[in-house]
Amino acid sequence: MLKGKVAVVTGSTSGIGLGIAAGLAGQGADIVLNGFGDPAAIASLRQSLAERHGVRVLHHGADMTRPEQIADLIAQATRELGRVDVLVNNAGIQHVAKVQDFPAEKWEAIIAINLSAAFYATKAVLPQMLERGWGRIVNIASAHGLVASAEKSAYVAAKHGLVGFTKVVALETATTGVTCNAICPGWVLTPLVQQQIDDRAAREGIPVEQAKRELLAEKQPSLAFVTPEQIAGMVVFLCSPAADQIRGQALAIDGGWTAQ
Ligand code: NAD
Repeated sequence: MLKGKVAVVTGSTSGIGLGIAAGLAGQGADIVLNGFGDPAAIASLRQSLAERHGVRVLHHGADMTRPEQIADLIAQATRELGRVDVLVNNAGIQHVAKVQDFPAEKWEAIIAINLSAAFYATKAVLPQMLERGWGRIVNIASAHGLVASAEKSAYVAAKHGLVGFTKVVALETATTGVTCNAICPGWVLTPLVQQQIDDRAAREGIPVEQAKRELLAEKQPSLAFVTPEQIAGMVVFLCSPAADQIRGQALAIDGGWTAQ
């Protein structure tokens, strides 16, 4: 379905972003990976995606807190692969603390990576998408883009902001072949969430498996983690013609979290 198209997925050396990159590669898209990690591990990720799916795979190490590096990510993708048709703004970080204890530098970093980076990347890709008359921008928000939890002020503010930004881009592109939507996952068992599970286990002096069950029971009625593959499935669907008129939506994949 996406043969001849090029997809940039930010924060795709791990977790959800990696699952999305694999899902898009599985549809034939050439892929630009982004994110941090051990260079040898990233090289082997590139190679295995390319070989498995017969697509071209690049990696760009842009730091999503740096607007000029984000612009360079889009410029290099366009230069080396010819175009960018799909942009998935996925890179994100978390920090958990009460507002009065929240370190200012964590607030700034979360707003920069989880929100502002989507603005800079979208600004950089829109002209070429509009010129060709087709494009897909998918913002990975969160259940926390729709509802709040205590001790996640920066994350909740950034993700609500990302949902708002998604709606504006969708309105500004409404008469074109470019669509912009957000996906709002519930708990997905990635390094970002494993950290929160480990912290809970240490804080409460309980086994990690029990901390995992408690984390799910608190918010996610299905009591099961969402998988990166399920989120990738939604991204692929949003890239299909069936989704041409889905615009400005915040699509929850959250095991019932926000139905409560
Ligand atoms: P993860 O920690 O597994 O992966 C994060 C990715 O972002 C990694 O590739 C990392 O290298 C990259 N990254 C981090 N800081 C970066 C920076 N400054 N510049 C460039 N890349 C950077 O996290 P994940 O759980 O896969 O999360 C991916 C996205 O999904 C995030 O936006 C997160 O908020 C969102 N999300 C996650 C969950 C969950 O339960 N895991 C739920 C809802 C939403």
